[in-house]
Amino acid sequence: MQAHIHRNYWVEVNLDYLKNNFQAIRKTVEPAMIMPAVKANAYGHGIVMCCKVLEECGASYLGVGNLDEAILLRRQGIKIPLLIFAGNQLEENVADYIQYNLIPTVFNIRQAKALSSVADREIPIFIKIDTGRGRLGINAEQFPDLFRQIEALPNLKVEGVYSHMLGADWPDENNPERSAYAFWQGQRFAQALDSAGSGAAKIPFLQLANTPACIAYPNLRMTGVCPGRAIWGFSPLEQRPEHPTLRMPMVAVKSRVLHIKEACAGKFGPNGSAVKLEKPIRIGVIAGGVSDGISPAHAKNGYVLIKGKRIPIASAICLEHTILDLSEHPDIQEGDEVVIIGKQGDEEITIAQILAAWNKTLVELWTSFTPHIPRVYLQDEKIVAVTDGDIPIPV
Ligand SMILES: *Cc1c(COP(=O)(O)O)cnc(C)c1O
Repeated sequence: MQAHIHRNYWVEVNLDYLKNNFQAIRKTVEPAMIMPAVKANAYGHGIVMCCKVLEECGASYLGVGNLDEAILLRRQGIKIPLLIFAGNQLEENVADYIQYNLIPTVFNIRQAKALSSVADREIPIFIKIDTGRGRLGINAEQFPDLFRQIEALPNLKVEGVYSHMLGADWPDENNPERSAYAFWQGQRFAQALDSAGSGAAKIPFLQLANTPACIAYPNLRMTGVCPGRAIWGFSPLEQRPEHPTLRMPMVAVKSRVLHIKEACAGKFGPNGSAVKLEKPIRIGVIAGGVSDGISPAHAKNGYVLIKGKRIPIASAICLEHTILDLSEHPDIQEGDEVVIIGKQGDEEITIAQILAAWNKTLVELWTSFTPHIPRVYLQDEKIVAVTDGDIPIPV
């Protein structure tokens, strides 16, 4: 580690894999425009550096979850169009959308009027349609009416219409039922646009497809796609033939040994209960605990890697620290690097092992590494950037 990070706990992200995923998806969906979903701190990968890479790769838009993340991206020099999915009362925040040149998601006339009345220039907006997820967005059948009302307002340009579709299995000729829900959503979307008149035919960005749909359903790709999980290296359809090869950019979670000593008491009893020990044990305390994404379940049979060896957890996982049992490892020293997820020497703790042990889904695991945790970014196996609290710091 060259950069000076203030905490000895960090997540490593391989930017070559991120580029690989973007390019693999682009090859699959060309000529559709790509709007990678970067909500929730880029699915936990660190929004600033990942978005710099996606911008360089040629993403047309970025789909950002909330205003704070979008403003951070603008302050860090991201120039490409940013769509904000919906995370606030739009009417209360129009000034920020306009100042930072952010594309709002609109799904009712109230929001459109608020923007139109404040705008000092033509503001691009995206309208969100609900096609079958049953969440945000105007119901597809009501879209034409909303669109005509918006068309009549000054200072607004409908640059995109999108929907976050639900599911989409690989189409199966022998089992058309599997594709029925996906096609029904596609029909609702197409019908909504067809019924909205000639103005709607000129909207440049029409998007329905998320990860599985953009890979498996060419007919649902429209002019744009919005892959989330696939950008971050996961697709629920990965086992299928013709699937692009994806790699997970989050390659490691690491820490260092802060303190080594002989402990004579502590939470070393059954289920983390307090006990006085008959014989002191040699413990090592590392940075990183429950608030850093380490599950309390790691106390049960969990281990980390140091010097390429498996080192058992000694006690309950604390909020910001984890205690190791070093009784069998006299060679380990303060400052040694610790692998919580990833490879070291001949050993590896895989994400799959951790998901099973911690009983989490992949997206839960990624996003449990909150923005306050430093990220170390690798390219060509070298460190190219480090962020602390999501802000890049000198390497
Ligand atoms: C998160 C998100 C996506 C991406 O979904 P994946 O299934 O992860 O690809 C697409 N559209 C919207 C509106 C989203 O919020």
